[in-house]
Amino acid sequence: MYWAKEIETISREKLEELQLKRLKDTLENATRCPYYRDLGLGDYRVETLSDIEKLPFTTKQDLRDAYPYGMVCVPQKRLVRLHASSGTTGTPTVVFHTMSDIDTWADLVARCLYMIGVRQEDVFQNMIGYGLFTGGLGLHYGAERIGCLTIPTGPGNTKRQLRFMREFDVSVVHVIPSYALHLADTVENLDIVPERDLPHFKRAILGAEPHSEETRRKVEEFFGIDAFNSYGLSEMNGPGVAFECQEKQGMHIWEDAYLVEIVDPDTLAPVKPGEIGELVMTTLTREGMPIIRYRTKDLTALIPGECACGRTHHRIKRISGRTDDMLIIKGVNIFPVQVEQAFMGMEGVGRNYQIILESRGHNDHMIVRVELDPDMFIDDFKKLEELRKRIIGSLRSELLITPEVNLCEPGSLPISEGKAVRVIDKRTI
Ligand code: AMP
Ligand code: ZN
Repeated sequence: MYWAKEIETISREKLEELQLKRLKDTLENATRCPYYRDLGLGDYRVETLSDIEKLPFTTKQDLRDAYPYGMVCVPQKRLVRLHASSGTTGTPTVVFHTMSDIDTWADLVARCLYMIGVRQEDVFQNMIGYGLFTGGLGLHYGAERIGCLTIPTGPGNTKRQLRFMREFDVSVVHVIPSYALHLADTVENLDIVPERDLPHFKRAILGAEPHSEETRRKVEEFFGIDAFNSYGLSEMNGPGVAFECQEKQGMHIWEDAYLVEIVDPDTLAPVKPGEIGELVMTTLTREGMPIIRYRTKDLTALIPGECACGRTHHRIKRISGRTDDMLIIKGVNIFPVQVEQAFMGMEGVGRNYQIILESRGHNDHMIVRVELDPDMFIDDFKKLEELRKRIIGSLRSELLITPEVNLCEPGSLPISEGKAVRVIDKRTI
């Protein structure tokens, strides 16, 4: 049941002892790079875990300022890999790994996969981008570590993906949630019946972008599988940071590898236990490029209490949004995933949506375009109008503003091979 039973079920007391030891080692190592040395990191004394609060935060901007090698703590010849985060503009944020970092990372990912029931007999198809993005290689090495037959298809070419799934008896896929929904559309268009044509398919790992519980359910019901939420970011390696167990009640965040804090994004003070705030993490095992108190901008909360699976590492809630993805519409703060949550579970709603923001006079105007379920009859105007009104009502009670809702034909909205682009902001004021 466990990949690494001892560490996954370690007592909180022992875990904290280990964290403190690793934190001290990390700080010592971190002072070897120009960035943290110049910051005077060596002057801080850490005797308890809560002393972490005295240390400075690290932001994405700091990583950019230290570009290219300013945060590297080992001689260049010991580095074996570079990854970069998925942002497309400005200086990339790069992270370097030594051989031991790659090994530790693969083991963390293997731990996640094993936790959801993946075994050596499984055939694993990785539909997530390889290359600088961490989702591809990160999961790939973890799946190989378990011994799965691992198929590195990467994203796109949906027909070929399905062909491989059928012909190689694929049992597990790793996929971006928006692409999983697109895959379902394609399955339907090709008259593939999941139970009949993909009988080995049992599990999907949904990662890399925010998605709602409703989207998970849609994927699970359509394919007749279990889908698990996987959270990670390149600054903390990538996938393998936090992952749902089979209880599906939050994601275990591996605290032997990361020291976790949740802070108020404005005051930067710790939030009360169980409250939502910004996730801040310190690497505890990385040697090539340790990062201290990294402000992820991701909003989540620690889930109090123990998990029925027996793992002692804390769980975090599904990410509700990024502080920098928050939309301010008519003065109201809205996260795209809240929009999705309002209608994704409704009968008649399809698998894709888009949010368009415009200026009308001096006001913001929000249009939500929602694809219809292929079973919905496009010419039943009464039914369509009822559905449209139901979506508006649900969005109004979720968001407290009333957007315009346009229903669209299945498959008519753009899809992306990487993370979905949900919001098109055309506002001029
Ligand atoms: P990157 O560093 O390019 O891999 O992007 C990492 C970011 O993707 C995170 O900071 C999150 O904002 C987002 N992300 C990754 N996995 C998830 C997930 N399971 N749920 C929500 N957001 C996620
Ligand atoms: Zn659990």
